[in-house]
Amino acid sequence: MPESETENLGFDPDALREKYRIERDKRLRSDGNDQYLEVAGDFSDYVDDPYVTETLNREPLQDEVDVVIIGGGFGGLITGARLRESGMDSIRMIEKGSDFGGTWYWNRYPGAACDTEAYIYLPLLEETGYMPTEKYAKAPEILAHSQRIARHFDLYRDACFQTEVTELKWEEQTARWIIHTNRGDAMRARFVVMSNGPLNRPKLPGIKGIDSFEGHTFHTSRWDYEYTGGGPDGNLEKLGEKRVGVIGTGATAVQCVPYLGASAKELFVFQRTPSSVDVRDDRPTDPEWAKNLGPGWQRERMENFNTLTSGGVIEEDLVQDGWTEIIRNLISMANYRGKGLDRGEIARLMELADFQKMEQIRARAEEIVKDPEVAESLKPWYRQFCKRPCFHDEYLPTFNRDNVTLVDTEGKGVEQITPNGVIAGGREYQLDCIIFATGFEVGTDYTRRAGYDVIGREAIRLSEKWQDGMRTLHGLHTRGFPNLFIVSNGQAGFTTNFPHSMDETARHIAYILDQCADGNITTIEPTQDAEDAWVEEIIRLSRINDGFQEACTPGYYNNEGKPDPRSAQNSSYGKGPNPFFRLMKEWREEGSMQGLEFN
Ligand code: NDP
Repeated sequence: MPESETENLGFDPDALREKYRIERDKRLRSDGNDQYLEVAGDFSDYVDDPYVTETLNREPLQDEVDVVIIGGGFGGLITGARLRESGMDSIRMIEKGSDFGGTWYWNRYPGAACDTEAYIYLPLLEETGYMPTEKYAKAPEILAHSQRIARHFDLYRDACFQTEVTELKWEEQTARWIIHTNRGDAMRARFVVMSNGPLNRPKLPGIKGIDSFEGHTFHTSRWDYEYTGGGPDGNLEKLGEKRVGVIGTGATAVQCVPYLGASAKELFVFQRTPSSVDVRDDRPTDPEWAKNLGPGWQRERMENFNTLTSGGVIEEDLVQDGWTEIIRNLISMANYRGKGLDRGEIARLMELADFQKMEQIRARAEEIVKDPEVAESLKPWYRQFCKRPCFHDEYLPTFNRDNVTLVDTEGKGVEQITPNGVIAGGREYQLDCIIFATGFEVGTDYTRRAGYDVIGREAIRLSEKWQDGMRTLHGLHTRGFPNLFIVSNGQAGFTTNFPHSMDETARHIAYILDQCADGNITTIEPTQDAEDAWVEEIIRLSRINDGFQEACTPGYYNNEGKPDPRSAQNSSYGKGPNPFFRLMKEWREEGSMQGLEFN
């Protein structure tokens, strides 16, 4: 790079690139995803439901409904809502929790909240007549909204809670799905919607001795308030005499660590890789603003956000949150529009803009954290989208507390768990409690994460069909599995604002089921040609940028630093969310259900 160009930057791009490489190399490991333990067998206690108030006792079901929706999180709820709007009466939701909410049912840890603005994240606001109380909703408000949606659209009727699907099997003679569950059900449905959620299966690190610890342990997605005391707002009074360790420093830890720091006698945060932690700046909803919103405001706002976060140009940024700011800044700092630059030059300018943003994030750690050595440890050395960016105003100051210790494992992670605590950097930390903030399975196979296999026509299993990668039409249908719909990001539209893409999928499903309502259609599934063409298109448009991913520090965004040949095939629609949503709309408007075969 010419010296004239770098001298005003305040940093040396070559030195930063080298530093990023060194930090990534420290963390690369040959076992990739296999470093984590499946939460099953001896570890299955970790996924027991601590929130259930009354254990359900019911007879097994062998009846029939029109539609079974698996998953009572936003994906299932929005689909149920859109189906109700289109007049569908016979809907049964199956959910393993004891109520609706999905992610927000499970993640009740102190401080849990959503980083995406509530006015676009909480679905169906205009339909349910609800206005969030703050720009960034906290978990209890989101959970309550999930239940509001279920009540509003009458989805509690016939719902099966505390029920886990164990197998889905297609019965050719009757053209029905048989849904087997852990409660002995063998219910039947004409259509099934699978909305299992992208991050539903907690994972534990495969640390030596993990089963030897004699103190108390739990995963953040099954918070044990009986042990900690307090609630989602903190005041974890039972920790006042406890030495607590948190393993992991991702988006979840960033939110719960301040509450643990405020309550525990001593807190040790075991860090392998620091998160980038930018400004949060939450504020209450302005009632005047809310009063003056016109009909259709939520959709307009969601689309505005999508356009901006997928790199589109739009005059006004309605949301103005951390996400739109990141992308706006990257683009404006790189300032490439209209200059006729080639791809290489654009990539170089984007990298510079990224360096600049991450320099700000690192400077923030230095400004806030008093101990320079601790501040240094909290600086992330990678490009911003290598990991999930975080936004929080209390996380970094927590490390100024006398009772809080950051244990920087220098990229190595915890070495061992002993009956008394944790060994890191060759030193044993005596602990009463270990909290695993180690996230959820992402790169493992779809059916493993779903927790059940799907057996379609001619006994073909979904796990086998997809062993070399997903095969779908529009991410929604897969040949050999008639009348089955998949709500997922893979081979479909992806946006940071997940509920938006779920809503688009839900509308699409409602449209298709409406076409099947007159009784002339018994089964629908994609043609082989349509499915093959879609898979090819997904691979062709894939934005999986191997160079970028490879240079990234390991994490679930890049399959723990181990390139996966299936990544391009399993990726989302490469032209971005809005073009995907437009494509789906045009498909519906065309009216012939192109690519689907029906009998
Ligand atoms: P993540 O997968 O993001 O983080 C897991 C953490 O565990 C990482 O810091 C990881 O380190 C660490 N870890 C794993 N193994 C070890 C080990 N052996 N020793 C020490 N540390 C270890 O999980 P989260 O639950 O934090 O977040 C998951 C996702 O959920 C987020 O990415 C986000 O999409 C969503 N989320 C959103 C929130 C929001 O809206 N604010 C809040 C919370 C979650 P390393 O980085 O080195 O792998």
